[in-house]
Amino acid sequence: MKTRVFTRRQFIKLSMGAAASLGLTKLALGDKLLAQESTALKPAVVWMSGQDCTGCTESVLSVLTPDLRDFILDTVAIRYHETIMAGTGHVAEFALDEAIAEGGYVLVLEGSIPAADSRYLEVGGAPLEDKFIEAASSAAAILAVGACAAYGGIPRAGVPDGQGAQYFLDKHNVVKPLINIPGCPVHPIWFFDTVNAFLAGNSIPVDQYKRPLAHFNYTVHQNCHRKGNYENQSYLVDWNDPAQKNLCLLLKGCKGVDTHADCPLIKWNDGVNWCGENNAPCAGCTEPQFYDQFSPLFKKQ
Ligand code: SF4
Ligand code: SF4
Repeated sequence: MKTRVFTRRQFIKLSMGAAASLGLTKLALGDKLLAQESTALKPAVVWMSGQDCTGCTESVLSVLTPDLRDFILDTVAIRYHETIMAGTGHVAEFALDEAIAEGGYVLVLEGSIPAADSRYLEVGGAPLEDKFIEAASSAAAILAVGACAAYGGIPRAGVPDGQGAQYFLDKHNVVKPLINIPGCPVHPIWFFDTVNAFLAGNSIPVDQYKRPLAHFNYTVHQNCHRKGNYENQSYLVDWNDPAQKNLCLLLKGCKGVDTHADCPLIKWNDGVNWCGENNAPCAGCTEPQFYDQFSPLFKKQ
């Protein structure tokens, strides 16, 4: 049996190839030269996790179109992402510090930042809020992805009192271009369209809550297939009655009238369906009022 001997450099290159096949563009091994070779000319992305369920990461990673491999391997250089990076512990934190020192990246925040006490969320032995201020200060732009990062979301309703990125940065006098891409979770197309527009240098018109108008210009209600029944005041009151299947879900707590998103147009799960088509009332997950001011979700307020 033949034995092949690798130099350290060859080993790291081989490891980077393996990491790339797993969807990683940078291996957090601390070899700056090789890392720069793999990320040269590609816009850097740093993805930080606040108080989250990782649902937005799951949503983005689950997309079939666009091809995720093209995005991760060819379009951007993901410098830090707790869920998908190869490095862990101190090695991962080193990668984050290295990216912050270089600056100029797109900073993505998934999850909220606790307002009640910074000890609710610590990373690398220190409050996440300190590292987020540091990362935000060196970023070219910030994307607050998902309801929690945008406006506090579900964690705002609980003891930690989650804050959205813009609210938090305003308190700490950090001024950066920021776009909110809310949702619980974020829709992968909302994310990719916004990132691609940013990378192309296109302007991204936003509404009063900093949501891209391309996807948040209309209410869910305006495009809902049950709208005719809403206008006729034909409401579903009994989930078990097949005759009521397509009636308006207003009395079951639907927030579609007050919720801006194009879910009925682009649908979810790569165009398969959306909440209303799946007989679930819109929970209003793209609005700043979600979740605390929209709950209980299944009752008309
Ligand atoms: S189900 Fe909701 S979004 Fe659809 S028509 Fe009724 S209130 Fe509007
Ligand atoms: S239909 Fe409503 S609850 Fe469902 S994903 Fe769209 S905005 Fe969120």
